[in-house]
Amino acid sequence: MTDAPVIGVLALQGDVREHLIALAAADAVARPVRRPEELAEVDGLVLPGGESTTISKLAVIFGMLEPLRERIRAGMPAYGSCAGMIMLADKVLDGRDDQETIGGIDMTVRRNAFGRQNDSFEAAVNVASLGGGPVTGVFIRAPWVESTGTDVDVLSRLRNGTVVAVRHDRLLATSFHPELTGDHRVHGLFVDMVRASR
Ligand code: GLN
Repeated sequence: MTDAPVIGVLALQGDVREHLIALAAADAVARPVRRPEELAEVDGLVLPGGESTTISKLAVIFGMLEPLRERIRAGMPAYGSCAGMIMLADKVLDGRDDQETIGGIDMTVRRNAFGRQNDSFEAAVNVASLGGGPVTGVFIRAPWVESTGTDVDVLSRLRNGTVVAVRHDRLLATSFHPELTGDHRVHGLFVDMVRASR
């Protein structure tokens, strides 16, 4: 498809490969992004799951933090899953003291929020605006969204009310990992957001 959007996956650490596969399945041209020159060439960016403190540290070392902030400020669509959600949050609770985020979504997230007994679990999650029934939410030492600004749309809550997916304009974030399930609807939603932004 010639009009397929080019979507990068920030490839400093985390489950990059799974996102590349999911994006390709959702009809995007997907490529890893490690350097500012590569970032300049994509229409949108995925921030993968992994370890946000490590991604933060490597983003500083690789000179990517400011270029990432600039592109997001300029309106590039981005989607963050799990650690990627943390990277898109304006504020983080229970982060490391030196932990930086890219920011962009007016929200506060809590790292490792679900606690030890629930470090990893699966739950059926309804995502607003996604047809076809709930997705399987895979939560792995996941963050939750503790509070959101007025311009942020809450897309998903667990049964107890915990917010686990949000959208703020061109930015999308989930506590869970749709890239691990073979269900590409969340990536499809993001690809549509990138298409609409061009
Ligand atoms: N606990 C990790 C962090 O704080 C996120 C885990 C994940 O991405 N699966 O970055």
